[in-house]
Amino acid sequence: MLTAIVGVNWGDEGKGRMVDLFSERYGVVVRYQGGNNAGHTVVNDRGSFILNLMPSGILRAGTVNVLGPGMVIDLEHLCGEAERLRQGGILISPETLKISGKATICMPYHKLLDCLEEDRLAGKKFGSTRRGIAPVYADKYMKKTLRMEDLLELENLEERVGDIAEWKNLTVSGGYGHEPVQAAALMDWLRQYGAPWRDYICDTTEFLDEAAEAGRDILFEAQLGALRDIDYGIFPYTSSSSTIAAYAPIGAGIPGRQLDETIGIMKAYSSCVGEGPFTCEFFGQEAEQLREAGGEYGAATGRPRRVGGFDVVASRYGVKTQGCTFLALTKLDVLSSLDRVPVCVAYEVDGERTDSFPTGRRLAQAKPIYEYLPGFGDVSGCRKREDLPQAALDYVAYLEKAVGCPIKYVSVGPERDAYIEMF
Ligand code: GDP
Repeated sequence: MLTAIVGVNWGDEGKGRMVDLFSERYGVVVRYQGGNNAGHTVVNDRGSFILNLMPSGILRAGTVNVLGPGMVIDLEHLCGEAERLRQGGILISPETLKISGKATICMPYHKLLDCLEEDRLAGKKFGSTRRGIAPVYADKYMKKTLRMEDLLELENLEERVGDIAEWKNLTVSGGYGHEPVQAAALMDWLRQYGAPWRDYICDTTEFLDEAAEAGRDILFEAQLGALRDIDYGIFPYTSSSSTIAAYAPIGAGIPGRQLDETIGIMKAYSSCVGEGPFTCEFFGQEAEQLREAGGEYGAATGRPRRVGGFDVVASRYGVKTQGCTFLALTKLDVLSSLDRVPVCVAYEVDGERTDSFPTGRRLAQAKPIYEYLPGFGDVSGCRKREDLPQAALDYVAYLEKAVGCPIKYVSVGPERDAYIEMF
């Protein structure tokens, strides 16, 4: 079984928590896009962990984890993340983690360029996480990046790194007026943070192909959500990679295979990190209450997330874009304190009601049209469908119908067992 777990919304839907739950059934978990620009928070019997680059399966003994060719990897960050996990008792070894030689290395100058550009933009910034993700993907398509496999030939890299540094300095010092990057320092960085991973680098395509052939179940773990996809998201306020399920086999390294199932993770309300149009946004006290109740602060950056009511228009678009087989609805417990639950059922654009998700100026100017459903009180202790109050069941059924996809799981807390299987 090849299954993708993907975000239906703007990211932070609780994908990591659901992958952690489902990884029991899968022998292999693969990250297929993005870098350390977002984070999953996973709480289980071994503790609370923040994962930026590692697949969430790393927390489960016996699971093989893969960083696929579609990823961009900051080696220094990978070393730090591995160290923190090891301190938490997690085994990181070439048996538990395999890194594609085709994955792209995110270099220190990518981070630097990200920061220089955000600083230049000042008030008009994109809300980048400043982790170098846009610059490194741009360089990938310029075909001027290093890949993980290059670490296997460090001794032959000096000339190439020298050429790249010369090219980068046209922008770093020539454009931004920053002091130039030094090839020797880049080589030192590659040796220090790259060498520890040499034994982890392999042909993950071969590994995954064999695993699939042997009938092992493979889980593809996405970062961010449909609305952040480079092509289908709220461009230009998107991520720089393909966050959609259709890209999973490509970014993971087995482009010739097809997914059997796509599980969409959808949040019971809306949240969004960074800039860009966010039609359902709450402000003031209403926002603060929801943010506090949901602990809505970025796992990678600590930034307070923007929050709002459930957005049917955006979520239906997200479900369709992802091609979801079924959904897991997360964080229903966060709405416990609301007397009535706001749901944005349509947008008003240019004075007209619309059900379809707009782009560009039309999205920026869209206004939410809300309906209110009855509140349902505390559901955090519910573990079976029968435990849920009728109003909560009604809310779930309403969302199911509105987005056009069955909700198979409802999560009511961050802990591993805090969920309900609906059917
Ligand atoms: P991801 O990137 O999609 O994995 O999401 P994040 O980890 O950034 O954000 C999800 C946050 O919500 C994490 O802190 C989770 O521990 C937490 N979480 C996940 N599911 C639930 C839930 O059902 N209820 C509550 N209260 N928290 C949850």
